[in-house]
Amino acid sequence: MMEVITMADVISLLGLPGPKDGRVTYNIQCPCCDENPRKKHLNINLEKDVFRCPRCGFSGGMFDLYAYYSGVDRRKAREALLARLNIQDSETPVTQMRRKPKQKAIVECPITDVDTRDETYRALLDKLSLASDHKENLLARGLTEDEIKRHGYKTMPVAGNAILAKQLLSEGKYLAGVPGFYHDRDGRWSFVHEKRGILIPARDPNGKIQGLQIRMDNASKRKFRWISSIGKQDGTKAECWTHLAGKPQRTVILTEGPLKADIIHQLTGDTVLAVPGVNSLNHLEESLIHLKEQGTCHIMTAFDMDYLTNPNVENGYARLQEVLSKVGIQYGTYLWDPQYKGLDDYVWQYCFQSIRR
Ligand SMILES: [Zn+2]
Repeated sequence: MMEVITMADVISLLGLPGPKDGRVTYNIQCPCCDENPRKKHLNINLEKDVFRCPRCGFSGGMFDLYAYYSGVDRRKAREALLARLNIQDSETPVTQMRRKPKQKAIVECPITDVDTRDETYRALLDKLSLASDHKENLLARGLTEDEIKRHGYKTMPVAGNAILAKQLLSEGKYLAGVPGFYHDRDGRWSFVHEKRGILIPARDPNGKIQGLQIRMDNASKRKFRWISSIGKQDGTKAECWTHLAGKPQRTVILTEGPLKADIIHQLTGDTVLAVPGVNSLNHLEESLIHLKEQGTCHIMTAFDMDYLTNPNVENGYARLQEVLSKVGIQYGTYLWDPQYKGLDDYVWQYCFQSIRR
């Protein structure tokens, strides 16, 4: 029989926080395991009228939620709700609609706060090592051994990911809402399996790790990807974070990719802001506003020279100029010999290698 009460009714009756901008699934503080309202592990699904905490397992339907918060006996919850909502329990004819076979729907976790992500990612990277071929690769780009260590680049684990997750849990780290982590088929937390590559942290202006990128060893296109557990049980989608290498200065270079930013910063000493790509500018505006508040008044864009010929890149570049104008920061463009694809290649090959030679 069609239920006349919805989860949304129960939420408003209990005075629990509602969803932002019409979302059907969102998170609130879990009454069982979240010690403060900043942690939001309890997922409310208004479409399916269910709730679930991937951290402690507290879950159920709207009557369970009502019973828990109101203290009413679970068996009397529906009746009590009908009374409170002043609804007649009309004898709605049972609509024997073609019921879809019940399949366990994948529920994803909304992303958790940057402090939690930073703590979890740091602990994860601490457990990983950097393979020698990856270290060679980074050294060949102009990074020093100290820098490589300081930035926290590591080799993506290709086995034992569930064990890594278990160790992190036993250290009290939160995995729910951290892109890359999810519940596997056995109901254990795990970390996504990707092909081999270098993990590159993307950091906010305070040096906190927003997310991880992977530079795939053998990929001709989309060589850099975000670590994400989208589409997996309790997994979390990655976002297009920006990355800041260096402290805010009057002039900041804007390029694409956290690794490139780290390299340019090391070679030139300039502060470099990176977007993931010229077509993924979701977090650029907030980053520019932050820089402007810190005294940055000029941006020099330094995107790969193929923007001159690649129409996809050209569109992204127009969007980029729009955002820069909107924030009200002056900007200019670095141009260099197009035989070097990126500014990092140019600076490294032309300026540094030639001096050493
Ligand atoms: Zn919980």
